[in-house]
Amino acid sequence: MALMTGEQYIESIRKIPMEIYMFGKKVENPVDDPILRPSLNSVRMTYDLAQMPEYQELMTVISPESGERINRFTHIHRSTEDLRNKVKMQRLLGQKTASCFQRCVGMDAFNAEFSTTFEIDKKYGTSYHENFKKFLRYCQDNDLTVDGAMTDTKGDRSKAPHEQADPDLFLHVVERRPDGVVVCGAKAHQTGIINSHEVIVMPTQSMGPDDRDYAISFAVPLNTKGLFMIIGRQSCDTRKREGGEMDVGNPEFGGVEALTVFDHVFVPNDRIFLNGETEFAGLLVERFAGYHRQSYGGCKVGVGDVLIGAAAVAADYNGANKASHVKDKLIEMTHLNETLYCCGIACSAEGYPTESGNYMIDLLLANVCKQNVTRFPYEIVRLAEDIAGGLMVTAPSEADLKDPKLGPVIDKYLRGVNAVSTENRLRILRLIENLSLGTAAVGYRTESMHGAGSPQAQRIMIARQGNLAHKKALAKAIAHITE
Ligand code: SF4
Ligand code: FE
Repeated sequence: MALMTGEQYIESIRKIPMEIYMFGKKVENPVDDPILRPSLNSVRMTYDLAQMPEYQELMTVISPESGERINRFTHIHRSTEDLRNKVKMQRLLGQKTASCFQRCVGMDAFNAEFSTTFEIDKKYGTSYHENFKKFLRYCQDNDLTVDGAMTDTKGDRSKAPHEQADPDLFLHVVERRPDGVVVCGAKAHQTGIINSHEVIVMPTQSMGPDDRDYAISFAVPLNTKGLFMIIGRQSCDTRKREGGEMDVGNPEFGGVEALTVFDHVFVPNDRIFLNGETEFAGLLVERFAGYHRQSYGGCKVGVGDVLIGAAAVAADYNGANKASHVKDKLIEMTHLNETLYCCGIACSAEGYPTESGNYMIDLLLANVCKQNVTRFPYEIVRLAEDIAGGLMVTAPSEADLKDPKLGPVIDKYLRGVNAVSTENRLRILRLIENLSLGTAAVGYRTESMHGAGSPQAQRIMIARQGNLAHKKALAKAIAHITE
């Protein structure tokens, strides 16, 4: 079964008994929970689109490993064209879901692990690459969704992992057995983990020799004993429990994050991809982060497309669409959004092969991409709010609109252009609210800031990759300076 249908995917997740908590209670049926289901629907779209002939080329690829047609989300990039197609696929999915569709973290972890395990084995004669390739084939053949867990909770930021007052603040090995290791710790902000079959765990930062137990990477299924998740709250999340759809803004799709706890989780030897080779922890982080910073030049652009469209519709609905300042704001939003796309495509086009044969993005350009993503969506949101007007946050509820007494009053007074129903006008404003302040703002606005690393993390990489010495030499040559 190299390609699952969306329905098969949903049923496959239903069969995994996961330990999930929300609002202080265990969630007995996460698949049908109204708060959680929209995020599952977003991942489902990665399966549904792969079944459609018009998207086959973007969404699927022939696996060099198996020769079978597989979902691109389980593919190891073998060319710059693969890298560009990845970004295009993510933009498409952002357009179709207006949310985080979650499956990219696994794809980015696959590609970072592929090259890094190869290089560790070359140096130490370990068998991590073989372990990883076996896991990869399993994911490709079964069309699995895999979460990539990197961000530790980190405790006191001024201290190294082994210096923390509580050793579990970074995930680490607590026991070494002949058949594997036992780990303890937690990973924060895990996007899509409850919608995944497996999770790849990676270290969160570079490690020194004293952090040996913290330099650990592996994969385990989501129903592994000792693994449980606590769902993160989002603005307006309980609106999804009210039963209506207007007030939610995006009734079908969403994204959900969870604090994921590993309480003495056993990892068998053949699922380990790094175990104590501390000097490779930083490389794995840098590569995963690089790929995920490239990803943001696709997914956030797709969601931006929806937001720009929503702002334009809002202007149509209140008759402001001909105003020159509104047209100019839409141009500005488009300019910012396409600039992000340029970055995603550029870092892909400038990709290069690693020793293992897969393709890496240009790291400097990928970090510039993500640095821009920490800024431009905020401006796009600001302009969307400007165009939407205050009604976006003062409009009465769907229940009021449906009320026999209040409904006609709302319909009369909140109408914009006469030909458009008040309901449609409110629907588009709720979508803008959802993307800029509501549940989707987690995946669009705040995730643009902190997802794939906070802004300072990119600035460190830009400083490292920017080659200032070369630029100084250029200036001196032009100025005829000899020293
Ligand atoms: Fe994919 Fe974007 Fe969500 Fe990351 S933030 S998982 S790249 S959709
Ligand atoms: Fe993300």
